[in-house]
Amino acid sequence: MTKLAPVLSAHWDEKDSFTLEAYKRHGGYKASEKALAMDPDAVIQLVKDSGLRGRGGAGFPTGMKWGFIPQGDNKDHYLVVNADESEPGTCKDTPLLMANPHVLIEGCIIACHAIRAKHAFIYIRGEVTHVVRRVNQAIADAYAAGILGNGVDVVLHIGAGAYICGEETALLDSLEGFRGQPRLRPPFPAIAGLYARPTVVNNVESISSVPAIVMNGAEWYQSMGTEKSKGTTLYSLSGHVVNPGQFEAPLGITLREILELSGGVRKGHKLKFWTPGGSSTPLFTDEHLDVPLDYEGVAAAGSMLGTKALQIFDETTCVVRAVLRWTEFYKHESCGKCTPCREGTWWLVQILRDLEAGKGTEADLAKLLDLCDNIMGRSFCALGDGATSPITSSIKYFRDEYIAHLTNGGCPFDPVASTLFVGAGA
Ligand code: SF4
Repeated sequence: MTKLAPVLSAHWDEKDSFTLEAYKRHGGYKASEKALAMDPDAVIQLVKDSGLRGRGGAGFPTGMKWGFIPQGDNKDHYLVVNADESEPGTCKDTPLLMANPHVLIEGCIIACHAIRAKHAFIYIRGEVTHVVRRVNQAIADAYAAGILGNGVDVVLHIGAGAYICGEETALLDSLEGFRGQPRLRPPFPAIAGLYARPTVVNNVESISSVPAIVMNGAEWYQSMGTEKSKGTTLYSLSGHVVNPGQFEAPLGITLREILELSGGVRKGHKLKFWTPGGSSTPLFTDEHLDVPLDYEGVAAAGSMLGTKALQIFDETTCVVRAVLRWTEFYKHESCGKCTPCREGTWWLVQILRDLEAGKGTEADLAKLLDLCDNIMGRSFCALGDGATSPITSSIKYFRDEYIAHLTNGGCPFDPVASTLFVGAGA
């Protein structure tokens, strides 16, 4: 059985793990010293060789992304760290930043050296005030110790709280002071990103993974994970489980193994459905307990690894109600730029609300799927596509439950029995 493999989370159990002193006690900032003595291109090559892929959802190779930045162009280059974590179920960057903000700062120093940038911006959600305070303190401590300010500056930018600002180009617009809406691509951020300058946008976990790769080498990182999905990653387990939380393991571990390591589904209940990568990834059921949780394994089984947000729902949960709640979220967070998503998510919510209340007919299921078909692949960014995933997958696996709402004249589930989604509303 695959075991947990703490690398990023190695010292999270120490009370002072977030301090500069604790980080240095465990060899912190040695990797940046090593990287700064290397040629920037060699650092890029090292990260390419490690096989590290973006941990924000898309899984794009990190070193390759860095390699897209044009060199010798006499322009400023920027690193932007996406800490706008807001996908329902996703909770890995927040604990990482609370437990060890210095690993991100060190990752920023290394990445800036590699892409020849002098400025890194960390874009974080304004609602997570405790995380903002912690990262600000870590940045201040790094400046006071002379770690920052000697070639690399790090700025923490606090967003106003919009899911769409997790989309990299909407994030850049927001960072520039505009309304956060996705940009038309090309040009891609590597050519014209922040302030129209070459920019790398990476997730918190991706950048935080870099110091250990620099210290231990590409082969060490390659030795963990599966053929095309290397290294360890943070899986966030939530919902109807005995021990929710973050579990760091090599890519390719299965949900069955994570559940065994974490105490399993709550006592007396059984798994009904789950998300492998947050609510915008197609649902899985107990048929998928042995799917390798790496980029290829999850895709082959019909979903996406996404942010590795494993939300677990037992048999007391009404799938229609769960999907309605998620769809209300996507409708609320639609930025309004394109018609299929702006109008489509509104209609999805209307139909789902009726179905959940036992109104409508079976033909509404076909209408829902037709709407999803018109949103999927026709939206300007991935939010529209993601909004359809829970609907189409839930109808695929739980069509009978949708029908039961209609024949029952309402939800057949006892709302008291489920600890989730009680009090659902608009
Ligand atoms: Fe905005 Fe939705 Fe269109 Fe994305 S898909 S640009 S969030 S309206």
